[in-house]
Amino acid sequence: MKVLVIGSGGREHALVWALAQDPEVEQVVAAPGNPGIAVLRPAHDGQTIVCRPVDVADHQAVVVLATEFGADLVVVGPETPLVAGLADPLRDAGIAVFGPSAAAAQIEGSKAFAKDVMAAASVPTGRAYVCTTPEEAAEAIDAFGPPYVVKDDGLAAGKGVVVTSDRDEALAHAAGCEQVLIEEYLDGPEVSLFAITDGTTVLPMQPAQDFKRLADNDEGPNTGGMGAYTPLPWAPENLVEEITDKVLQPTVDELRHRGTPFSGLLYAGLALTSRGVRVIEFNCRFGDPETQALLPLLKTPLGGLLLAAANGKLADHEPLTWKNAAAVTVVVAAKKYPANPRKGDVITGVEQAEVDGVHVFHAGTALDDDELVTSGGRVLAVSATGKDLDEARQRAYAAVGQIRIKGSQHRTDIALKAARGEITV
Ligand code: AMP
Repeated sequence: MKVLVIGSGGREHALVWALAQDPEVEQVVAAPGNPGIAVLRPAHDGQTIVCRPVDVADHQAVVVLATEFGADLVVVGPETPLVAGLADPLRDAGIAVFGPSAAAAQIEGSKAFAKDVMAAASVPTGRAYVCTTPEEAAEAIDAFGPPYVVKDDGLAAGKGVVVTSDRDEALAHAAGCEQVLIEEYLDGPEVSLFAITDGTTVLPMQPAQDFKRLADNDEGPNTGGMGAYTPLPWAPENLVEEITDKVLQPTVDELRHRGTPFSGLLYAGLALTSRGVRVIEFNCRFGDPETQALLPLLKTPLGGLLLAAANGKLADHEPLTWKNAAAVTVVVAAKKYPANPRKGDVITGVEQAEVDGVHVFHAGTALDDDELVTSGGRVLAVSATGKDLDEARQRAYAAVGQIRIKGSQHRTDIALKAARGEITV
């Protein structure tokens, strides 16, 4: 199988690595890829892994690349090209694609659309008002009271949501958005549950938790994600079944009934509130950094799985299987992330960090005269596996300790409460 992976972040590095572990995969091309993918070693004889430059916004160029190299499958990593409709011309060209159409990707592209789908499918979520003027937003903000939840309706790279008890800050964020969702505050631990779907059949992965805030103890601004871990030792035993029955399957069914089937990865971000499970958001692709924690534990060969989803053949697929272990991912971010990440800082220690059971996935790196430097906000995602969360944490942080980047930031409490048994539902 020849696979083309679109994207250049830590998620795509993890996807390329996991695809390469599949014995059926003989070639992986990453476009544009990143310096970490470029030096990935083949997992078996005869396999090749290469990066190709491409402008992902130029859909026709991606179709040409996939056709020229004879891709059996294209996996689209990030949300921006999916929402922009990259999967559609690929499918029109007869190429199998893992990733939803532009119409189905609206589940992430518009929070108002997602709310409409959830209402139609009776999926539990927070009450919300969609507002288009500052006056409407102020009225909704006062109707709910603090803490206020204000969400930009469109894509915002994980930075469009403000949760605050400061009314002025809530109003200011609302004023900066064209269309805004004011939502009821949802309490309780958060869970990310990913499902592979072909538009009909839903195969849930195991749940993970990510850390959105920049600083320890969930302080500081929201980010694209500062770390993740899986599995969740504190999760109720039937959690995956419950979310599949109440959230994932009804959403997939609703989108199919609308004539816009969702094929690809459906990501449910959920709050386990005292009144039950509530959807916080849907995403239309693998989450970053949860993917970097999940894939090192997945036993099911990834290439065959994603191809079956792309070809509408998941009904015949086995349920997913997982290693009996834990994984912790710690993101190392650049100085001044998320406001104004500094580029060009030298990165050292990556090789020393990559001992057995540790992967250093590149997210925002570049080569400057053969020297590895920072080129984005989240620079590296350091993933470690272990027999339990405690061991995975120790390995992940030992690896992070090897890496040197001037002014870099990372959280020190990823998976800490879970490892200590301090999370209860
Ligand atoms: P989103 O981009 O919708 O996932 O929001 C980013 C983060 O904001 C979530 O992971 C939550 O931590 C927080 N958040 C979003 N919606 C709510 C809500 N209704 N109540 C409390 N926190 C929320």
